[in-house]
Amino acid sequence: MNIFDSVLTPQYKQVYKDAIDSLISSNGLGTQCKLSYNSNITSATDCNNCLIDPIYKKSMGKYNGSGPRSFPEGAVCPVCNGAGFLVVNNSETIYMAVLVSEKNWINIGLDPVKIPQGSLQTISKADTFNKIMNSYSMAISDQNGTNNNLLYERDSDPTYVGFGNNDYIITMWKRII
Ligand SMILES: [Zn+2]
Repeated sequence: MNIFDSVLTPQYKQVYKDAIDSLISSNGLGTQCKLSYNSNITSATDCNNCLIDPIYKKSMGKYNGSGPRSFPEGAVCPVCNGAGFLVVNNSETIYMAVLVSEKNWINIGLDPVKIPQGSLQTISKADTFNKIMNSYSMAISDQNGTNNNLLYERDSDPTYVGFGNNDYIITMWKRII
């Protein structure tokens, strides 16, 4: 399923991608979402600095072109020391587009009757998939960024959407406090 199939000319792809990137980003309309991970579980996330061998799940010793610290090919990645993953803190703030109103939700094939009152939908970049899957709860700030007492838990596995290459994920959350 691809919700963007109907607008797939290259120009539109770019326009929509830019619009969604802005919707998600910290300097666009993105909302600060604080993910908490179960304190008994140490969460790991793929290293953001090197290419990772898809089979052995280890660093390939090759800079990925976008990470914070470039390094020569064949050297040990200075960010993960060759492990290919980073241990993440028990909580972490990421930016997502938060869609509160059901009217604005993207249809991912859920039965609206089964969605609890007060639920919301988020759109985020595909690289947040593992973080969201590992999250125990999510606190969202109000518009001033000061109030963290709206607490949610994940109510669906994230669904990939995008322009032929699954750039984004959509997740449903239900209110717990
Ligand atoms: Zn690395």
